[in-house]
Amino acid sequence: MRTDVVDGFLLDRGFQVFLPAYPEARRVLDYDELNLRPIYRGVDVFVKDHFHRMADPLAHPLTAMKHFRDEIVTLRDKWTTLLFRKEVFGLREPPRDLGDTESENYLREFGFSESMIDRFFRPFFGGIFLEKDLRTSAAMLHFLFAMFDRGGSALPAHGMQSIPNQLAVALPPGSLRLNAPVSAVRAGEVTLDSGEVLHANHVIIAVSEEVAHRLLPQTGAPAPLPNRSTTSLYFATDDLPPGDPILHLDGDGRGPVNSVTFLSRISPHYAPPGQHLISAAIIGSPCSTELEQVVREQMRRWFGETIVAKWRHLRTYQIRHAQPEGRQLKLGAGPLDAVIETGLYRCGDWCEDVSINGALLSGRRAGAAVMRALGEPIPD
Ligand SMILES: Cc1cc2nc3c(=O)[nH]c(=O)nc-3n(C[C@H](O)[C@H](O)[C@H](O)COP(=O)(O)OP(=O)(O)OC[C@H]3O[C@@H](n4cnc5c(N)ncnc54)[C@H](O)[C@@H]3O)c2cc1C
Repeated sequence: MRTDVVDGFLLDRGFQVFLPAYPEARRVLDYDELNLRPIYRGVDVFVKDHFHRMADPLAHPLTAMKHFRDEIVTLRDKWTTLLFRKEVFGLREPPRDLGDTESENYLREFGFSESMIDRFFRPFFGGIFLEKDLRTSAAMLHFLFAMFDRGGSALPAHGMQSIPNQLAVALPPGSLRLNAPVSAVRAGEVTLDSGEVLHANHVIIAVSEEVAHRLLPQTGAPAPLPNRSTTSLYFATDDLPPGDPILHLDGDGRGPVNSVTFLSRISPHYAPPGQHLISAAIIGSPCSTELEQVVREQMRRWFGETIVAKWRHLRTYQIRHAQPEGRQLKLGAGPLDAVIETGLYRCGDWCEDVSINGALLSGRRAGAAVMRALGEPIPD
């Protein structure tokens, strides 16, 4: 979770959003200080040459009424969505009994039509899971749907990096040492790339699954599956008509862009005064020298020639190791044990579930395991 400042624009490394209802995040983060800016509860889905507003009827009843007769969502799908909201109501973690069921199969069996799956669930949850087959565990679908339902989504006013920054400043001075890659780990000992060796009675490994696999060959764990990837293109413009801070989705599935968000409508701090920032998010990491042109072509279909002609490309991010695949498929077994061996621990999204909440929760579990080993009380 990082944010680069480029010409006064705040560019998150890969488009992402924060769900304020995350239980662990509520516990550890100061939301007032993050100055969370809400994103519209609903989406604009591009289907058959037009955007169709799908508004959350509880948050925007008048808009939902206005679009009630739009044929994009059938009455039956509207009813099934209400049933699904009821199904996930009160959920605070991914339900383990659904751990190995794929989301797509689950949605179909729950009663959603193919068109609802293709036009809404595939681009919306595909954009979160970073895969459009919706093979990700239905447990994650349930959990995330419940989180959106309860608290919507938001961005910290000054970019996603505000979240790790807030955690970092709470640590005692001198606790963090940055830009010191680790080349080997064993109980009691950490070796840096520089050759320096650090000693500690308790070592927690908080890296990605594949780096953990490389650093800990002694565990004999099978090699992780290839990671899921994503690409974000950022554009600037000084001419953006007023509108809602809403996600625009590719309901036709023509791509390559899956979603577009005018970030400065969510938080004006994402762009310098008088400017706007646009994010175009792609699932996967297509290798094409003409990517920007292909994206512009799609954007012209979506927003019109004159508007897109004024967009200035700022930067493209390809995040090749964005999410671990394995953990997204199987959640039934519950979190991985934080203790690897005496004095050696692990944490990260791949140990819990792949979300900001899962990463935070996993960190707390590892911390608690160390406190237990030290014979110290575990704080609430
Ligand atoms: C593009 C993108 C979009 C996402 N969207 C969302 C979203 O909308 N909502 C949501 O809830 N979640 C989202 N996620 C998932 C969420 O951001 C992650 O699950 C979470 O940040 C993972 O945290 P972590 O601490 O497990 O791993 P990381 O934050 O990846 O931390 C691992 C750390 O290990 C360091 N490291 C690696 N190798 C070494 C080494 N050899 N030596 C020392 N350090 C090393 C890395 O530099 C890194 O700082 C998204 C992720 C990405 C990438």
